[in-house]
Amino acid sequence: MAEDCLFCKIIAGEIPSNKVYEDDAVYAFHDINPVAPAHILVIPKKHLGAVNAAADEDQALLGQLLLKANAIAAEQGLAADGFRYVINTGDMGGQTVHHLHLHILGGRQMTWPPG
Ligand code: 5GP
Ligand code: ZN
Repeated sequence: MAEDCLFCKIIAGEIPSNKVYEDDAVYAFHDINPVAPAHILVIPKKHLGAVNAAADEDQALLGQLLLKANAIAAEQGLAADGFRYVINTGDMGGQTVHHLHLHILGGRQMTWPPG
């Protein structure tokens, strides 16, 4: 757990969240400010500041994150119509919380290019 990390505090239960899924390695919860009818954040319990802070030892964890996101998207009924994953990275990428998180966005037509 990283000091002063919002998502580490959510994992620890120090800040409440609307939990969707939890196991030993992964935690998922509804975004507090949804930008789509379905907007879920999937995060590793291990604090990684961003996706590109991952090292070789995190290879399995990154795989778990995507596979769990797939399961959550399916369980939320998003798989048939499609959905979008977003991992904002760094300032230019629009990352505001510096704990790796995968956004699952669904329930409406996505557009391209993204903002
Ligand atoms: P980023 O901009 O870093 O990719 O995404 C951070 C996301 O975290 C945003 O979509 C924002 O709405 C969400 N968020 C920020 N603070 C909280 C919080 O306290 N609880 C929840 N559930 N989501 C949060
Ligand atoms: Zn953290």
